[in-house]
Amino acid sequence: MTEPIVEVSGLRKSFGAHVVLKDLDLSVAPSQVVVVIGPSGSGKSTFLRCLNGLEKAEGGTVKVCGRPVVEGGRMMPEAMLDLLRAEVGMVFQSFNLFPHLTVLDNITLAPTCLRGMSRKAAQQQALQLLEKVGLAHKAKAYPGTLSGGQKQRVAIARALAMEPQVMLFDEPTSALDPELVGEVLQVIRALAAEGMTMIIVTHEMGFAREVADVVVVMDHGSIVEAGPPGAIFTAPQQARTRSFLQTML
Ligand code: ADP
Ligand code: MG
Repeated sequence: MTEPIVEVSGLRKSFGAHVVLKDLDLSVAPSQVVVVIGPSGSGKSTFLRCLNGLEKAEGGTVKVCGRPVVEGGRMMPEAMLDLLRAEVGMVFQSFNLFPHLTVLDNITLAPTCLRGMSRKAAQQQALQLLEKVGLAHKAKAYPGTLSGGQKQRVAIARALAMEPQVMLFDEPTSALDPELVGEVLQVIRALAAEGMTMIIVTHEMGFAREVADVVVVMDHGSIVEAGPPGAIFTAPQQARTRSFLQTML
């Protein structure tokens, strides 16, 4: 058995008295693509953020890339979490590019500052990544001149520049005009084909069905059910899954 890249057991997280994650368990094997679906407010973003220590959990154990994030409810120190975050790529709904830096500099910043990569090597790598996301011609552009879909593709290239072992996507296409969704999904699809391990929160059900190895359905802070897309979308076992899927039609 290969070690899972992500291992979560009994994860619990509250904001004040409000319990938003209730004893979550999940294991993600190398090259697996897990898609997380569920109603707004069900805890999807909080769950992703717990995986790289952006949220402090108070119960359970989370291990990512063999590194503990939370162990028996005890958060690892920030210095250890920083090492982990260098191996976990995260892409948000809002692209969070640095507006005063060119596309190329947005991508080379972390590898040169955090990895000590030479500027030349980082630029070479950045150009390859831009090629991959179809934006080599935008290397010198500033984010403000790009469409939403282009910005998100740059954000993905920037995350990939750290050579992550796993990529976390939180509704990467939710802020985009409908005609720009496809170009971003295409980049994620290509990553899946290359064997990138990914956890993707999305409301794009067709895409989920096509790209997921496992679909995880969340509701009110719990995993309602999880399984291959064929099972979840055609024969959901749980009433809460059925009613959520109804709302997505
Ligand atoms: P989803 O991504 O599925 O929409 P979230 O993880 O964003 O759900 O939120 C889960 C619950 O946690 C919601 O009830 C939300 O209001 C609450 N929540 C999220 N972030 C915070 C926060 N920083 N402080 C207080 N409550 C929060
Ligand atoms: Mg969310």
